[in-house]
Amino acid sequence: MSACIFCRIVAREIPADIVHENDHVLAFRDLRPVAPSHVLVIPKRHIDSVREAETDDVELLGHVMIGARDVAQKLGVAAGGYRVVVNNGDDAGQTVFHLHAHVLAGRSLVWPPG
Ligand code: 5GP
Ligand code: ZN
Repeated sequence: MSACIFCRIVAREIPADIVHENDHVLAFRDLRPVAPSHVLVIPKRHIDSVREAETDDVELLGHVMIGARDVAQKLGVAAGGYRVVVNNGDDAGQTVFHLHAHVLAGRSLVWPPG
């Protein structure tokens, strides 16, 4: 059994509110949403973060971004606009070390983020 909670969600060992899935990515609602729509898009293959990505991971990283696009379309927030955020490492506030893109929408988002 994996120690990584997001790998365990991929393996269906931990429940999640899944909104999108294909061969490459899984997307599910964040447990503690900070926007009316807050979904995490993760690659099914474990990688800690962008920081650890190899050049050969270019397709995996692309699938995460296309997954974010698909999630926004499915949730009906694409036209209004949305933000895709990837936290990398402690200073960025990353708490789960399985790469994930936050898709945030449904309210006006401030810039720059805190
Ligand atoms: P990070 O801070 O690493 O960028 O984001 C991790 C996110 O994962 C947080 O927003 C947190 O609420 C969410 N999260 C942590 N554990 C779980 C979980 O077991 N299920 C779901 N759905 N979200 C989780
Ligand atoms: Zn993992």
